[in-house]
Amino acid sequence: MTMDATARDGRRSRMLRRSLGLSLAVALAALFFTSCASLSAAPPEIRFDNGLWFNGEEFEPRTGYVVDGVLRFSKTRREAASVIDLDEAYVVPPFCEAHNHNIGDAVDGVPEIAARYLKDGVFYAMMPGSFAYYRERIADLINTPTSVDVSFANNGLTGAGGHPRRLREFLKARFGKYPEFTKEMLPDKGYFEADTLEELHAKWALIRAENPDFVKVMLLYSEEYEKRKDDPAFYGKRGLDPGLLPALVRLAHESDLRVAVHVETNFDMATALRAGADIIAHIPSKSSPERISDETIRLAKDADAALVTTFSLARRHKVQSPDRYAATVESQRENLVRLKRAGVNLVLGSDNVRGTSRGEARHLASLGVLDNKTLLQMWTVNCARTVFPDRKIGRLEDGYEASFVALKGDPLADFENAFRIHMRVKDGRPLPF
Ligand SMILES: [Zn+2]
Repeated sequence: MTMDATARDGRRSRMLRRSLGLSLAVALAALFFTSCASLSAAPPEIRFDNGLWFNGEEFEPRTGYVVDGVLRFSKTRREAASVIDLDEAYVVPPFCEAHNHNIGDAVDGVPEIAARYLKDGVFYAMMPGSFAYYRERIADLINTPTSVDVSFANNGLTGAGGHPRRLREFLKARFGKYPEFTKEMLPDKGYFEADTLEELHAKWALIRAENPDFVKVMLLYSEEYEKRKDDPAFYGKRGLDPGLLPALVRLAHESDLRVAVHVETNFDMATALRAGADIIAHIPSKSSPERISDETIRLAKDADAALVTTFSLARRHKVQSPDRYAATVESQRENLVRLKRAGVNLVLGSDNVRGTSRGEARHLASLGVLDNKTLLQMWTVNCARTVFPDRKIGRLEDGYEASFVALKGDPLADFENAFRIHMRVKDGRPLPF
């Protein structure tokens, strides 16, 4: 172990000690401190007996194996170093979060947040908007067999005075977030702003230099871009000039990077799809009533764009504005029914920094318009291929990564069973809780 690694472990140790009250963190700490050698080696060969495995459509009894860190279902294999009895559990691909900001916006707290993800069975998470500065400093605490796997956009591109500038300044002033930065230091660190093609190229060079996994762009009420552009009343409530979006998408695609667009309205969503966006980071009606047009749905279908729900954001209005909440939820139902009927790529993500995508799954189930199989697919396979499109994850098939969650009951019969976890296996190793 190098000096660097020792210093890193010291830091982990301090961070973990703060959370010793959490038995979960203790269990994880044990894993973190397992010797480097044993974690970097391939996991042991394991046979999983008596599991009912989800094949994308239904559950079937199979014997599963972890061999060289990947899943195998070959009938010829009977021997394995160890055997685990799944006791008739329902095995599903790991759950997944396609929209959050709770990793990469601070140095502290990562082990606790990672533990929360793993406990919820959520192994993959996408961060469309975080600081490259923090990402660098927490890199060794994520994307390991005993932590959550995360993909980052770093910070996104917006117009002058656009979202998320006001939010960043507010979080800093009110809650002391980003203590390493002054308000004046936030441009090009906590957000990127461009109003002209020339500025767009200049900011693109900065964004590209930070090696994002994908690119994030803001469109907010772009049908009113000219009206809002210079009006202080709309500070933080505007985004990039929609006319610049096609150029940004071209630049990103030339670098093999996908583009995720924050949208508010149906107009934003259609504009993003026409410009070639790959991911819609929020579906309109997330927090206020908004109808997605048939034309926009057709554009989404043709582009096979990933449409991330974040509908549980509406819940923040439930108590204070019950009428608004009821109308929003009704519009969510109406949109979901039509999106599902069109066969678009629906993906589950929460945008809830206080939790994981588990709350979003509960919210979507409570709307009562999507069948349990669709919900499960949105939360597993559709999300996994959005977060890490180049990895063999999200399916329980021969040669896929050996990560899965075993449930105590059938989530197709009762979706509540998706929240009753019997066992978590990540990268070929059962997690100790
Ligand atoms: Zn967000």
